[in-house]
Amino acid sequence: MADTTYREWPFFDDHHRQLAAELERWATENIHDDHDSDVDAACRGLVKTLGAGGWLRHAVAGTAHGGAAEVIDTRAICLLRETLARYNGLADFAFAMQGLGSGAISLAGSDAQKAAYLPRVARGEAIAAFALSEPDAGSDVAAMACAARRDGDHYVLDGEKTWISNGGIADFYVVFARTGEAPGARGISAFIVDAGTPGFEIAERIDVIAPHPLARLRFSNCRVPASARVGAAGEGFKVAMRTLDVFRTSVAAAALGFARRALDEGLQRATSRRMFGQTLADFQLTQAKLAQMATTIDSAALLVYRAAWQRDRGGNVTREAAMAKMVATEGAQQVIDAALQLWGGLGVRSGQTVERLYREIRSLRIYEGATEVQQLIIARDMLKGAAA
Ligand SMILES: Cc1cc2nc3c(=O)[nH]c(=O)nc-3n(C[C@H](O)[C@H](O)[C@H](O)COP(=O)(O)OP(=O)(O)OC[C@H]3O[C@@H](n4cnc5c(N)ncnc54)[C@H](O)[C@@H]3O)c2cc1C
Repeated sequence: MADTTYREWPFFDDHHRQLAAELERWATENIHDDHDSDVDAACRGLVKTLGAGGWLRHAVAGTAHGGAAEVIDTRAICLLRETLARYNGLADFAFAMQGLGSGAISLAGSDAQKAAYLPRVARGEAIAAFALSEPDAGSDVAAMACAARRDGDHYVLDGEKTWISNGGIADFYVVFARTGEAPGARGISAFIVDAGTPGFEIAERIDVIAPHPLARLRFSNCRVPASARVGAAGEGFKVAMRTLDVFRTSVAAAALGFARRALDEGLQRATSRRMFGQTLADFQLTQAKLAQMATTIDSAALLVYRAAWQRDRGGNVTREAAMAKMVATEGAQQVIDAALQLWGGLGVRSGQTVERLYREIRSLRIYEGATEVQQLIIARDMLKGAAA
């Protein structure tokens, strides 16, 4: 059982503590630590289960549209992701993508768009995806080439998106495309594209080290009504950044959940594995390792919940969220590696929890801004302050 005393920290209100405890109880009964070979079916099932449990309401904004609150509560989504990640990485993924995929609609959608999509997302009846990255525009988002040309009451999309989570199983995709109002980031708009829209296809399914639905998307003369544009023309980049701003801290929270699980696994093995007439935990070298793991986790948790608390107070969290994501994801990788080492040969055996965590953590250091990008964000923010 993971240490949950951090929930007493002053960053939280009582309703957050209650929410985390309720999810813990619910997850024990409803989220199993199994590894379905059919990842699409597993994900669809998890979205339904999370929806039926009422948890996806926290991933969308607006009580009129099925949300738990008028704005997304960052501390709530961080606590939920941390807890889900501790139980099952795919459950965390299913929750997170409902939020990230519908985030642009929550933040900038019209009333009609909110009414059409958010309640279904919150009930787990529609699966959402966020399509920003392209083969030649990953970290450098503004290099985006996918284009949307206005044609009367429609836009016509042409181009590709890649690494799109939920690609292949999503019911709708929020797609960012160049509309050309201005050069670079100021000429991008966001669109809702329903699965099955003519001209939209899944060009390729992508396998990764920790399986989850992922695809490259292709748009060829794909017509969507102008009413599918989310927010103003040319404002898509801002919409994307605002969406990522909400969810970036929660990626750090998921990493924290993986790290806590790894520490539990490491402790369990160290205290039960006998060698040289004592347990592995009796060695001071092991104790040093455990102390480092626990301290790394607490440092990350403090940064995660500071950023979440600050965001919920309405403050700017660009620097704080970047620090949280960098420290939590890099730290989790170290904690998981140390836990795997404690398990010895068994640690690399397929199907072991530490082996799965070792694969699961890796992409969190890359997506929603690689660690190097977070470093640049932090330094730029500092230098801006220094120059003022
Ligand atoms: C599992 C997974 C799921 C994803 N899901 C989605 C999704 O749902 N929707 C979506 O739109 N995208 C998604 N992505 C894409 C993800 O956001 C990109 O992979 C990420 O932005 C990095 O882009 P890239 O892969 O093109 O790497 P590149 O941009 O080519 O970067 C390669 C490496 O360069 C380094 N780097 C980057 N910038 C700098 C710099 N300024 N200085 C020094 N070094 C730098 C970093 O180490 C980085 O890892 C997903 C990716 C993965 C792996």
